[in-house]
Amino acid sequence: MKQSRLFAPTLKEAPSDAVIVSHQLLLRAGFIKQVAAGIYTYLPLGKKVIDNIETIVRAEHTAIDCSELLMPALQPKELWDQSGRWDVYGGELMRLKDRHQRDFALGPTHEEVITTVVKDYLNSYKKLPLSVYQIQTKFRDEARPRFGLMRGREFIMKDAYSFHEDAASLDVEYDKFVQAYHNIFTRCGLDFRMVEADNGQMGGSGSAEFMALAEVGEDTIVYSTDGDFASNIEVHDLAVGEPAPVGNGTIQHAKGIELGHVFKLGTKYSESFGVTFLDVDQKKQALMMGCYGIGISRIMMAIVEQKNDEFGIIWPKNLAPFDVHVVPICTKTPEIIDHALDIYASLQQAGYDVLLDDRPERAGVKFKDSDLMGIPLRIVVGKSIADGSVQIANRQTGEKLEVKVEDLKEALSEIYANLK
Ligand code: ATP
Ligand code: MG
Repeated sequence: MKQSRLFAPTLKEAPSDAVIVSHQLLLRAGFIKQVAAGIYTYLPLGKKVIDNIETIVRAEHTAIDCSELLMPALQPKELWDQSGRWDVYGGELMRLKDRHQRDFALGPTHEEVITTVVKDYLNSYKKLPLSVYQIQTKFRDEARPRFGLMRGREFIMKDAYSFHEDAASLDVEYDKFVQAYHNIFTRCGLDFRMVEADNGQMGGSGSAEFMALAEVGEDTIVYSTDGDFASNIEVHDLAVGEPAPVGNGTIQHAKGIELGHVFKLGTKYSESFGVTFLDVDQKKQALMMGCYGIGISRIMMAIVEQKNDEFGIIWPKNLAPFDVHVVPICTKTPEIIDHALDIYASLQQAGYDVLLDDRPERAGVKFKDSDLMGIPLRIVVGKSIADGSVQIANRQTGEKLEVKVEDLKEALSEIYANLK
């Protein structure tokens, strides 16, 4: 991609309502743009990051034989009446009427819809277990939409649902999702922790949350200094310094951003919707369910909150909008721009996703924007091209290396392999 054609409006200063660094940086670097409180456009750079997150999420769901579908955002009130949640969900449920004055909601979650989707099909134990997921826009009229994508009123979520003949089967599937979630957040480059969670208004028998560790997190994690104990403070209200309730060590507190949630729902929804199957003995049973969410758009924010410096974003390699940023310091000198174009083409051919800064801007402006944008590797084509060399700069380590153009691909592939 040529940067002169890329829609990435950068800002010198973030708007004053952006109070956390990730929000400021994503706005300043031209990844997102606010439309209204809690409602954002993902600009091309932001869309590429979202796509990268989704690619990882899809691969890890395919690996546990969970297939993708797509449900409607628009949901009739009758479904929510059947689960009883039209009345209890409260102000967060976005409600609207159609032209016939019939009530609808814009889905904040999809337990009601999925239960009715599988209802007729899952009539025998032979079809169980089954799990499905979607990646979809969700709507929640949050009381305090804030921190950009962290708490949006419209946001992207991955939600999965599983169906089982008994609790043992649900346990097995739940553990598979837990492993998939570990893989997803690790591949995204996040510093995270799994914690025991509150069962909340969903009802059910067991749940865990995955938290990105960050000072700005709205959740408090209580964990043991020595051992595996970690929980949301909502479940175990323990003070700093107390002995851990299980295992060794004493209690510490940390702040976390909830990235994902895995949940054993039990039979709550299958009972409300009358979903039954025939077991091996031809006896009617209520289906067991699990549900599993990930905040796709929230991940983009959480990673920036963890990976940045005074100059801008530092993308982990799997989420970066581009792999390599080729920056010719001047676009008027034919020797420089011609070499930059050659390098651009040959790196693309080698399989890298490359951004070429072909804008007629001063070198200082280009470097500033490049640091802000945070692409892991930058190749500077400058005066040393007269001696046949260019500079590789590593945004993650700050290291800089002069290499001959003929050695560039080899040097780059070694550095790329060692990126985080
Ligand atoms: P929170 O406690 O932060 O409101 P939640 O418990 O309501 O989260 P879930 O219903 O479990 O969230 O939704 C699954 C995932 O969707 C969450 O783990 C989170 O990553 C994401 N998420 C929830 N609400 C929002 C929001 N308003 N904006 C962006 N992402 C969200
Ligand atoms: Mg919530």
